[in-house]
Amino acid sequence: MNKRLSFSSLKAFSDCEAEAVAVMAGDWDRQATFSPSTIEAMNAGSYVHKYFESNKALEEFKLEHESDMFTKKGSLKSQFQIAEKMVQTLDHDPLFKTIYQGVKELEIFGKIQGIEFHGFLDCLNLERNIFIDIKTIRGSIRDKEWSEIEYRRVSWIKARKYLWQMAIYQEILRQSDDEKIGKNISPVIYAVTKETFPDSAGITIPQEWLDDSLDEVCEFTDKYIEVLNGRVPVRCEQCNYCKATKRNIQTISYSDLI
Ligand SMILES: [Zn+2]
Repeated sequence: MNKRLSFSSLKAFSDCEAEAVAVMAGDWDRQATFSPSTIEAMNAGSYVHKYFESNKALEEFKLEHESDMFTKKGSLKSQFQIAEKMVQTLDHDPLFKTIYQGVKELEIFGKIQGIEFHGFLDCLNLERNIFIDIKTIRGSIRDKEWSEIEYRRVSWIKARKYLWQMAIYQEILRQSDDEKIGKNISPVIYAVTKETFPDSAGITIPQEWLDDSLDEVCEFTDKYIEVLNGRVPVRCEQCNYCKATKRNIQTISYSDLI
């Protein structure tokens, strides 16, 4: 198991401990379970990020993903046509153009509950004391998604645990020795949608919510430490890994399904 965590590995661990541990041990290839359309959407999301990182990053991406981006007839695949529209939306968004300035794709390191964490900032703008994370999303910016933890529909930002990601990055930046990095640096989630007419918005988060999210991050990091120290990881019995490794030994009650 990894001694070092990232937002995505902690999120995976909170979704299903057993699957996350199997992935870390090299016993389960989660990527292999993704559908071609999911992979295409992920690549299209990367394209949007690379476009605003640098010309060099964009050119490298295009070279590497030529066969992913284009059909055999040479036209852009549908997800990349959408990505191109998202890029145009951000490129014409005055707020985005003003604040998305500074260091791009910066790798950061820190410690939470004694465990090493690392992350990548899309953009660190030290003049405004903010860091910005671009999120390409399928629905509308006001969309709500079902949360298994809260048993209600919550904002996609919360449902996908992006508040944890912002809290982790804010905490890591707070720990930085670099004098140029202020101690009260704040995240901005820059959302751009895949709608027919893409929407975009820069979203700030009240500090109390980030503080609460960091508490949750600490809680799950503690659970991770328990597993590092030998506790058997809990199976969710719902993810692909749990289904693939399931061995039924008793019946379940219908009442558990309603
Ligand atoms: Zn599972």
